[in-house]
Amino acid sequence: MAGVKIQDIRKSYGATEVIHGLNVDIADGEFVALVGPSGCGKSTLLRMIAGLEPINGGTIAIGERVVNNLPPAQRDIAMVFQTYALYPHKSVAENMGFALKVAKADRSEIERRVKEAAEILSLTEYLDRKPRHLSGGQRQRVAMGRAIVRDPQVFLFDEPLSNLDAKLRIQMRTEIKELHQRLKTTTVFVTHDQIEAMTLADRIVVMQAGRIEQIGTPLELYDNPANEFVATFIGAPSMNLLSATINEGVAELAGHRVPLGGLNAYKGEMRLGVRPEHLNLVGQSEGLPMEVKVVEPTGSETMVFLRFAGQDITAVFRERHAFAPGQIIHLAPDVDHLHCFDAAAGHRIA
Ligand code: ADP
Repeated sequence: MAGVKIQDIRKSYGATEVIHGLNVDIADGEFVALVGPSGCGKSTLLRMIAGLEPINGGTIAIGERVVNNLPPAQRDIAMVFQTYALYPHKSVAENMGFALKVAKADRSEIERRVKEAAEILSLTEYLDRKPRHLSGGQRQRVAMGRAIVRDPQVFLFDEPLSNLDAKLRIQMRTEIKELHQRLKTTTVFVTHDQIEAMTLADRIVVMQAGRIEQIGTPLELYDNPANEFVATFIGAPSMNLLSATINEGVAELAGHRVPLGGLNAYKGEMRLGVRPEHLNLVGQSEGLPMEVKVVEPTGSETMVFLRFAGQDITAVFRERHAFAPGQIIHLAPDVDHLHCFDAAAGHRIA
């Protein structure tokens, strides 16, 4: 196995630079997710690691080897794509063993490795079937099997779950995590789904417009987002952002005063970040008056969409509430879980 070191990597299409000098150091055995909105450069970065896109600047090393000029086949990586691209006329076993056959591996060696991968992926009883006689999840497993049999230094996943229905996605997510816990192969996983990234990754790289906004463990990003972009991208429903003027430990929001406890040192205009689960229902005199728009009971919690001072606010309660649309309720942010962002630049202050 090996780590992946990405240093000052750049990519242009024609005159347009789309990756602007990224640095990511992935440890041996680590599972790293690349997330960000569509077009931010996740797939391009993954494809550069794979050797499917030429690099315009910087270096990529896999283990000790700089691989910039090596073709994909010599990089000792295996990639799993969104479309599984299985050979329809080959059996599961033939699909899984194909890369080894091309590499002129021994027949008995191919059989042994395919059998082993099939056992790991619960595909043993399907080895003779053609892909069209498999379910979507089984096909995705064959695609992973194809990667596993090669026993590569690094797995690269490009949105492998986005073609599956919601239930299967969650199931396959767990299978991928189990697989990584078992094989401990260094993995880079591209997704636009922050929940997928949160649940799978040791560390997450949050990207926007060809730049890295923050790198951290899922909970580091959740608890200490570096800026408003990361704050609102990580977490569902998104963090609420409220414009406030802060003076002597009190925030003023649209004429309402909220004491801030520990944030005494800050002064001036900022935006307060409050996660939906950190808005507490309080008495009329203490909280911010918010108008209930829509209530969504999910059974385990109640999600409430509100309006306050011309802004949309989301609150999530662990208890059940039967608020009526149009009703005014009073909510106060939990001061121990407040985030403060610079009103102009959006970076984290506290
Ligand atoms: P993501 O995977 O995050 O959705 P991509 O890596 O696919 O983003 O794309 C990053 C940027 O590069 C986008 O602005 C996209 O339009 C551009 N891009 C991707 N591939 C090409 C290409 N072959 N030619 C020109 N521009 C491209």
